[in-house]
Amino acid sequence: MCNGEGEIIYTDLEDKIFGAPGTWSFRKCSNPACSLMWLDPMPLEEDIGYAYRNYFTHDAVESKIKNATSGLRYKFTLGLTSKLLRILLIKFTGLQKDVDKIESMYLSSDCPGKLLEIGCGSGDYLDKMHQMGWSVQGVDFDPVAVAHAREKYGFTVYAGKLEELDLPSNSYDAITMRHVIEHVYNLDELLRHCLRLLKQGGTLAIRTPNANSLVHQMFREFWRGLEPPRHIHLFSLHNLTTCLEKQGFRVVRAETTAAGADFVFKQSMELREYGKHSLPSETRVKTLVASRFFQLYEYVVNCRKFDVGEELVLVCTKQ
Ligand SMILES: [Zn+2]
Repeated sequence: MCNGEGEIIYTDLEDKIFGAPGTWSFRKCSNPACSLMWLDPMPLEEDIGYAYRNYFTHDAVESKIKNATSGLRYKFTLGLTSKLLRILLIKFTGLQKDVDKIESMYLSSDCPGKLLEIGCGSGDYLDKMHQMGWSVQGVDFDPVAVAHAREKYGFTVYAGKLEELDLPSNSYDAITMRHVIEHVYNLDELLRHCLRLLKQGGTLAIRTPNANSLVHQMFREFWRGLEPPRHIHLFSLHNLTTCLEKQGFRVVRAETTAAGADFVFKQSMELREYGKHSLPSETRVKTLVASRFFQLYEYVVNCRKFDVGEELVLVCTKQ
């Protein structure tokens, strides 16, 4: 962002999630006004598809998770322990409200319009928004996910990179990117396209891992948010706000949330303790219970400090 060289903060990282071969480092800019983190070396952009061969938006992986989590043991551990804890810890705090808000990306059903989701995966979010009255379209570079979204929901879903599609200017009321920008090579270029596609006053809503999160501070190189080699850039509340304002957006909401902290904590803990993430990890009661309590802790801390939640949430408008 500021053309600094950056210092290596982690090295010899492997892809513990989907097993892409290789090792990677992360660098962090030492300029405190910037502090951007980035993957080094970055895979060639034309090769990055190889790192997504087992990605979770794929149907096959989804059914693998379903099979693994439909057993009797799963039903007992998750069904009893987790549900009780979830009710106690989430329903009776403000956390549930946070979860609801970020699940709809702060878009309400009050005045629905035309929505484009970039990185729509298998289309589940689009379906949720469609049910809230929005007219929805999606784009994803993963052809398997695109085929799934088209087939299952019948929505208009474009395959490829947004920058290479010739979508009409000033035509969307809202654009959402949920856990997309950390995968992107050139964020400035993507933001310029978003600005062009939005109507005047239209909303861009973004969620992405927070490089300053509590779990990152605790687990360092085991933080789930690193996810080499698919996460190319990792942002803070400050530098992402700067990026958006530089492109001309008016930032109307910039905050962090603990809404997904249970998942990130659990997977980071498993990576540190077992050396790998196991997708159907809900069967592990210990990490599950710990993650629920950690989520409440992060929620309480974040209420006072605002910038240590697991995810950044930025909502901005085209002026
Ligand atoms: Zn920098």
